[in-house]
Amino acid sequence: MRGAKAMIAGAAASNEIFVLPGSGYREQDSDFAVAFVVPRDAPGLTLVECRRPSDCRELEAGFDSPVETGTTQSYLLFDNVFIPAKRVFMAGEYRYTGNIIKYFTANYRACIGGCVTGQGDVMVGAGVLMARANGLSAKTFKDKFVQMSVNNETTFGMGIGAIAMGYAHPSGVWFANDLMAHVNKVHVATLPYETKRLLQEISGGLVETGCFPSAEDFNHEEYGAFVQACLQAGNVSAKSRARAARLAEWLTIGAGVPGCMHGGGSPDGAKLVVRANTPLDEYAALARELAGIQEEIAEP
Ligand SMILES: Cc1cc2nc3c(=O)[nH]c(=O)nc-3n(C[C@H](O)[C@H](O)[C@H](O)COP(=O)(O)OP(=O)(O)OC[C@H]3O[C@@H](n4cnc5c(N)ncnc54)[C@H](O)[C@@H]3O)c2cc1C
Repeated sequence: MRGAKAMIAGAAASNEIFVLPGSGYREQDSDFAVAFVVPRDAPGLTLVECRRPSDCRELEAGFDSPVETGTTQSYLLFDNVFIPAKRVFMAGEYRYTGNIIKYFTANYRACIGGCVTGQGDVMVGAGVLMARANGLSAKTFKDKFVQMSVNNETTFGMGIGAIAMGYAHPSGVWFANDLMAHVNKVHVATLPYETKRLLQEISGGLVETGCFPSAEDFNHEEYGAFVQACLQAGNVSAKSRARAARLAEWLTIGAGVPGCMHGGGSPDGAKLVVRANTPLDEYAALARELAGIQEEIAEP
């Protein structure tokens, strides 16, 4: 196997890597119509970890690295990797690539609604911490927290709904409802950004990039105490406020952002599926009947 797969989440932490076609292919693409599973440390397979630009907080010390994590995407470089036949599920059958994408994206785009909800719940919590650390009651922002919760539960509910409205494939595998799963992906590419904006608004300028001293300066033997005095607010220590601010920054504009927009495919791609599953004429017929319209109203 020769070639590459880009932006693959969690590959470095995996034992086995499933490789599938990236889209529905035509005959001239049949060389790319491959599906197989390969051990992560197979000879000839190189994982190149993705890195954010130089302000990689994950590599910084103290509260500047709010969460013990790192960017999880990597590029997979296949240089003549041998895949034994028993691990190959597709080799040139391009006609079936569309089905693989249909089945994979349905379940993926239903489930992604759950993971961004988890991120969203943490954002609500970080907003409460920042409000209080700034010396304000969380009640001050109750409407914003309600909207953040509405955003979170929308993608969660859509995900569960898509799976509940799914169907059993003859193979016995359960697949989520296409239309609802792809509607969810459109929401996932929109609502978490609104939730991030609200967390930024609640937290104050501290959480905008470049508006907070580093942990090194915070603890500087000469002027650290002065910096801390500037950052102490309400009845919360400067250190706790610093940690809460770094978490809110990480969740809104840091490494805690990825995955919403293009992870699992672009929103415009999902809209193609929504369009294909929105029977305009059928709905027009329903409306015509309800309105009691006798004549045919066709496309001009
Ligand atoms: C955090 C993260 C994790 C990821 N994890 C994985 C993973 O684990 N496995 C995996 O396989 N992939 C993964 N991906 C890759 C993801 O599937 C792709 O980013 C996604 O499919 C979009 O492809 P692209 O980035 O090449 O953007 P492009 O396809 O280049 O799209 C860029 C823009 O152009 C638009 N566009 C593209 N083609 C057309 C067209 N023909 N007509 C009109 N508009 C078009 C798109 O809608 C989009 O708005 C991940 C991506 C991210 C961000």
